Amino acid sequence: MRWLFVTLLVLSGAAARCEGIVEVLGRSQQLQLEAFTDADADAPSTRKVRQSFEALRDRAGLGPTVELRVVTGPVLAETLHGRVIIAHQSLGDLDEGARLFILAHELGHVSLKHWPQMTLLYQAWLPGELMQAQSDAVAALLGHDASALAHRQEFEADVFALHMLHALGRSAQDAVSAFVQMGVYSDTATHPGTRKRLAALRAAEGELK
Ligand SMILES: [Zn+2]
Repeated sequence: MRWLFVTLLVLSGAAARCEGIVEVLGRSQQLQLEAFTDADADAPSTRKVRQSFEALRDRAGLGPTVELRVVTGPVLAETLHGRVIIAHQSLGDLDEGARLFILAHELGHVSLKHWPQMTLLYQAWLPGELMQAQSDAVAALLGHDASALAHRQEFEADVFALHMLHALGRSAQDAVSAFVQMGVYSDTATHPGTRKRLAALRAAEGELK
């Protein structure tokens, strides 16, 4: 999720356009969406990603408004506009369990309405028409709050994915496999580090038993 930084960039140019924060966020998401290049729709890996996505979407009871775009480029998976899931074609080459976990995590962001929550947080800090002085003044505090919410949402999406895997007769081992294949990361502005996410998953798995 690079949205936080793209949003702050878009924000800095917004004051001159007489926009509100909701329009800025929408524009920021759209810019990111348009920057992706679609993968070959007929490639076996693309088909695998789509099959896994459709099975999970049906299972989660989410309708056709939730879209998938299988892409190439510097992304693994993310959700834009709260309903468009971007997934790298290489997910098709992962173990099925790891692929299911990563896609279910993104569907968790959709199902748990994380983007509307984030939008509300931005609106609370920046109500009405944006003015440069106002957005500069709150940028640090807003960034702090948005980062804390983003971290909470990552943990929630992981637990959502774990529950989906369980419903499919799979275990947290698939999640571990996904993290192993993604590599080990430290905390970022938008994501808790791998160790914290694995610890939270282990705790959530313990509660399922
Ligand atoms: Zn996430």
